[in-house]
Amino acid sequence: MSEPLLSWWQLYGRQDPAQKPWMFKSDGTWPLPEDNLSSYGIWIAEVMLQQTQLSVVLPYWQRWMARFPTVDAFATSSLEQVRLQWQGLGYYSRARRLHEAARVLVQQPWPKDLDGWMALPGVGRTTAGGIVSSAFNAPAPILDGNVKRVLARLHTHGRPPSRDQHLFWRWSEELLDLRRPRDFNQALMDLGATVCTPRRPGCDQCPWRASCAAYASGDPSGWPVVEERKPLPFQVIGIGVVINEAGDVLIDQRLEEGLLGGMWEFPGGKQEPGEPIEACIARELMEELGIEVSVGESLITVDHAYSHKKLQFVVHLCRWMSGDPKPLASQQVRWVRPEQLKDYPFPAANVRIIEALLGRLSRTNQLQGPGEGS
Ligand code: SF4
Repeated sequence: MSEPLLSWWQLYGRQDPAQKPWMFKSDGTWPLPEDNLSSYGIWIAEVMLQQTQLSVVLPYWQRWMARFPTVDAFATSSLEQVRLQWQGLGYYSRARRLHEAARVLVQQPWPKDLDGWMALPGVGRTTAGGIVSSAFNAPAPILDGNVKRVLARLHTHGRPPSRDQHLFWRWSEELLDLRRPRDFNQALMDLGATVCTPRRPGCDQCPWRASCAAYASGDPSGWPVVEERKPLPFQVIGIGVVINEAGDVLIDQRLEEGLLGGMWEFPGGKQEPGEPIEACIARELMEELGIEVSVGESLITVDHAYSHKKLQFVVHLCRWMSGDPKPLASQQVRWVRPEQLKDYPFPAANVRIIEALLGRLSRTNQLQGPGEGS
């Protein structure tokens, strides 16, 4: 299986330093089997790639390496600075775990084997396999989404891959070319990403067509078998953009654990059945911050889908009336100038709220004209 795959990859694989710069030597050439690469850039890329496509990761990785060119620069930066670099990539606990791992790595020799990498926060088996095979050409298999799809099709496996992880790991291990594990893993990922795609796989270009049970079936896109999808739950979230007399805006930092842990946001919460949105916002701000507000006009409505639920954020401008804001359901709260909001890491839906707020404030200032705003 290895020989046709590697021959295909030699011609059609993603061997462009502009696409995966972490996989190349400093002179821009692909590493030979005996070459080692810097594991810092590979580690960052592998963690970014855990839930995110290569085309999205690339600009983040480039900005990251410019901002934190060494693990020392990364480990000595604050978690806030790290989250700002991560902003927009999602699954934010990855940034916190990377930072924890960096602080370990500056204290010890860098691991070179699977177990050493898997002992670090945020590094599972496939990430560790990707790091050691890419950096050291070590014989470690990988099992990302692309690889699972290819394997499920080769074997026309009758259950979702997530239910048979052990079997899929065994298949990936059995296929691995022990003489060229780095090249083989890259080739396998490239095949899944560019030929054996989720919809309409390009079997005509595939080097494994003759060995593929899904191709023989005549309908290869029928694999992998997927779990029956239940409709995602939907919730409306009332959000208050609270402004005080000085024109400062109130934001809070989410607890570390859980979805979007450690990110900043505008306060609010779930609408109860039958509850008007203004009442929801006033109640949530009292419950979460202990403040009384006057809920004013609508600012924006933002729909956002996560992997497990869909949310609609209904955002209103609010005037602060009374009560010192307290972090009753968050890590901390802060009044900030609107122009300082860019210095805090916010999740994607909140970034749209900030844009709407700044647009509204600039229009208001233009209407009021110079000297009329006080
Ligand atoms: S023959 Fe088609 S389905 Fe099978 S591995 Fe190749 S691209 Fe995927």
